[in-house]
Formats: sequence, structure tokens, C-alpha cells
Amino acid sequence: MHYDLSRLQDGLAKLNISFSELQFKQLLIFYEMLNEKNKVLNLTTITDFEEVVDKHFIDSLSLIKMVDLTQPLKILDLGTGAGFPGIPLKIAFPQLEIVLMDSLNKKILFLQDVITELNLHKIAALHGRAEEIARKFDYRERFDICVSRAVANLSSLSEYCIPFVKQGGLFISYKAGEIEEEVLQAKRAVHLLGGKIREVEKFQLPGTDIWRSFVKIEKINKTSKTYPRKAGTPTREPL
Ligand code: SAH
Repeated sequence: MHYDLSRLQDGLAKLNISFSELQFKQLLIFYEMLNEKNKVLNLTTITDFEEVVDKHFIDSLSLIKMVDLTQPLKILDLGTGAGFPGIPLKIAFPQLEIVLMDSLNKKILFLQDVITELNLHKIAALHGRAEEIARKFDYRERFDICVSRAVANLSSLSEYCIPFVKQGGLFISYKAGEIEEEVLQAKRAVHLLGGKIREVEKFQLPGTDIWRSFVKIEKINKTSKTYPRKAGTPTREPL
């Protein structure tokens, strides 16, 4: 492995995150596994190391702008795909307890390999659809934070995510581009699910011209048993 780590180091420094040798090594192994698996499974269109650093690693870790991740929080990454943002978060903040969830089992099998190879603990990769897992006793209203990147529009995503969050916990959505309209349209759904939009934060990713937004939603009330509705309905007929 010979990589120029300067871009990664700069990005981490701008987010005020420091990495040990082990953490750099884990991230590089993850990068190599991702590239290898990408040949047989469509995981990401981005393969160039520096681009992966900016658009996947630093982007995933920019969540630190929204919440103190040095605490022992229990986090769900819903629709994690190839492990974003969950794997970089776990590498950077090993005390987090993380569940990675995706409806595509091939991605989950890949992530189980990643977990083993990187020797990560207090992390699980779970195969399933949000609409079904959210009804299970062990997962419903159990998480301090649910995060999700590039999965669905904010109304549908709120129905997937908010049921998993404990009362007083957070649902934080990674969004891009113009989101004012999307946020307005999601207000009703968020309210019906027991949430309240607390903050919309827009910023440029360190060292790039890429704009990233976070929508921070606090769960103030328990979610009615009505939600989430059956598989497919949240995207077909958003609340
Ligand atoms: N978060 C990753 C992947 C985004 S692609 C990233 O930012 O790179 C969206 C992923 O969400 C896919 O892997 C898809 O299988 C998963 N997904 C979509 N709907 C889902 C649902 N209802 N429940 C669980 N996973 C879902």
C-alpha cells in the first residue's frame, strides 16, 4: 500500500479529527476492499483514491459538525450501501455502537467481511428493509441517532428513519444541493412521525467545491404504530 495521505490528513485536520496509525491502516484496507469488490458488485462510481477521500471518507465524517461523536452513542446507518457513512464513522470514533442496514444482501455480506478484516467491534451489518426492521422490538426506538446518505427524499426517509430513534434522539440526513423545497415538503411527515426539524446546515466540504447539507431532526414524541407503512408505500405515497 503506497498512498499519498496528505489530502486525507488535511481533511481530517479541518474537521478536528486525529487518526492513529491503526485508523489510517483500517481506512486504507477498507478502500482496497471497496475497489476490489467494485469489480464484481456495483458499489460506487468513484474509485480514484483522492476522490474517495473527499466524497466518501471526509463527507461521511463531516457529521462531526452536527453532533459530538466522541460519546458512546448508538447509531443506525440506514441504507448504508458500501458502508457510508457508517464505516468511516466507526473507524474514526471506535466507541460508537453502529448498526449498518441495507435491503441488498450482497452489500451486507461485503460489510461483514469489512468488519472482520478491520477487526471492528460493537458494529453489525443487518440485511433488511427499513419498513420491516422498524417494526421489530429490538430495533424500534432504540437508537440515539439514525443517519442516512443518498437513500430517499426527506419525507420518505423520515418514515424509514424516525421510528428507530429513541425519544429525545436525532435523525440526521445527509443531503446535497437545493433542499429548501424538500425540507418544506417533509415538514408534515416529520411532525406525523413525532419529529421536529431543528436545524438545516449547509457547508462546503473541506478542500473541495462540493456543497453538503445536513438536516437535523429531533424526535420529540413516540412514533405511532401506524408507521412505517408497508414496504414500498413510504416512497410511493410520501406522507
Ligand atoms: N448510503 C450509501 C448508499 C446509498 S445508495 C452512500 O451514501 O453511498 C442507497 C442504498 O439504500 C442502497 O444500497 C439500497 O439498497 C438501500 N435502501 C433503499 N431503500 C431501502 C430500504 N427501504 N431499507 C433499507 N435499505 C434501503
